[in-house]
Order: sequence, then C-alpha cells, then structure tokens
Amino acid sequence: MKETVLGYDIGGTKILALVGSTDGTVYSKVEKKTGNHLGREGLIGQLLQIGEEALRTSGNLKISRIGIICAGLIDQKNGTVITSPNIPSVNGVHLTRILSDHFGTPAFLENDAAGAAIAEKEFGLAKKSANFIYLALSTGIGSGIFIDGKLYRGSNGLAGEVGHNVIQVDGPLCSCGRKGCLEAMASGSAVARYAREALELMRGSHARTELREGMDARAVLSLWANGNREAGVIVDRVIYYLAIGIVNICCAFDPELILIGGGMSNAGENFIEKIRETVLGEFKTMGRQVKIARASPDVTSLAPLALIKYLSR
Ligand SMILES: [Zn+2]
Repeated sequence: MKETVLGYDIGGTKILALVGSTDGTVYSKVEKKTGNHLGREGLIGQLLQIGEEALRTSGNLKISRIGIICAGLIDQKNGTVITSPNIPSVNGVHLTRILSDHFGTPAFLENDAAGAAIAEKEFGLAKKSANFIYLALSTGIGSGIFIDGKLYRGSNGLAGEVGHNVIQVDGPLCSCGRKGCLEAMASGSAVARYAREALELMRGSHARTELREGMDARAVLSLWANGNREAGVIVDRVIYYLAIGIVNICCAFDPELILIGGGMSNAGENFIEKIRETVLGEFKTMGRQVKIARASPDVTSLAPLALIKYLSR
C-alpha cells in the first residue's frame, strides 16, 4: 500500500526535505544549506521550518510517517544521532522524537550509507539483489550491507564501517585513531592529501604541474579525467587501495553486486571501470565473480521514502 511520507536527508553541507510517496514519486522538495553555525536549537528550528515548507508546497498533503536520513553514527532503534562529525549540532539529538512530536506522526531514522543501500534495494539497481553492498566514497568511506534481502545492522547497529578496515599496517593515521584504514588511504580526503604531498615533493624543482594548493578530491579527479599525469599517479594508487578494500569485503560477504556511490563516484564510468578491472585482477585464484556498478544519485535522493517502504515489509 502506498503511503505519503515527509522525508529528510540531513548532510554536512545541505539539508533536503521532501514530501513523496513510498512508490518513489516526489511531490515537493526543499533544499537549504545546513545551518551548522546556528547551534543545536537553531539547527532544529531550521529542520522544522524546511519540513513545514515542503509540506506547504506539496499542498499540505496528509503524511502518515517521517523518514529521516542523517550522516554519521546513529542509534537507529532509539532514533538518536550518536555522533555526526560534519554536523556537530545534531550530536546526541533525539531526531525522531523532535520531528514526530512536531508533525504529530511517527518518525524513523537511518544513517546515510545504509539509507542509500535501502534506496538502491527499493528503487535502484539492487532491486533483484539479495546480497549486495553500497559503498559510499566521499570525504570518508562507509557502506550499507544487504544480506539475504535484509539490511545488516550488526549487534550494536554499527555494521558497515568498512572504511576502517586496515589495508596498510602502520599506514597513515585515520580519523578513528588507527593507522592505514581504507578511509585514510583511499577516501576523498586521502586524494586531497596525496595532491598536497605531491606538490610538497615538487617544491623547489622547476617541474610544471597542474596540481594546485588546496585542491580537493573533485579537482584532482577532474584533472585525472582530462589525462593529467600527476593526477593519474594519485588516482591509480587510490584505485589500487579501493580494489584491495573491495576484495576484502567480497571475501567476507560474497556479494553479487557492489554499488559505488558518494562524491568520488562522480568521477565517471572510467573510474568505475578501472576499479572493476583492478578488483577482478586481485581475485586471482579465488574463483569469485562480482558485479561492480555506479550507484545513481537520483536513487540515493529517494532514501527517506525508500526507508519507510523498506520498514513496511
Ligand atoms: Zn579508521
């Protein structure tokens, strides 16, 4: 049965509220920059305001539930945010209670990578896959894992932190305090760091380069797409680390499909193809098969609706 839902997608840079149906139809959509400077009360006020605006522009449709997607570690059972490094104002906030009290209807919370996996399961490329993994390659690396048709949450609800699998012992320091995690070796922030290190090495020499101070992953990946050699060295290295990380994941979960999403997946089909080739090369004698494809950002944006649909099963 179709339901009308108020959905939220709360990220470090923007907040999206939408009113839509659990069949994937969107009736209205409001997007604002995340008011991190507003503090806790201010940010909560902003959330309520954006939700009301989305409801108003939908023609005040009657909603039956609220689906909330939020970046960071969340306590899905209680509906609270444990810690969100990019949206510190929501740390410890009981999002489901606040939104459900305000709008007078039940609310449900999910983490962004798990939300994107659910969206792919309900509306995207993973509709027919029972065992698949959505890998979010952004500033950090996270994942949403489906096993036997169900999202795998783990005993503390914290499963899917594949970004903290160590792939180089004594490698670079990770935000989690360990060294050589996949996230420290192959995330967007790692790409930016490799660019800084390459510039550092070239300092004083007269070598010409298109790398610049302060370049982020998007800028480096766009140089790579245009055939730049130094960016090529960086991206080859990152793809190799990603492939090692993906092979580890395949050894543990044996998925039929890996969907690559997050900001870095915008580097395009060539980037995905190189990951695919490197992963298959690394399987060696393991006799494995896995499909690797790019997740669709249009599907990811339906995550709040997909969450409610998924919870109704
Ligand atoms: Zn780590």
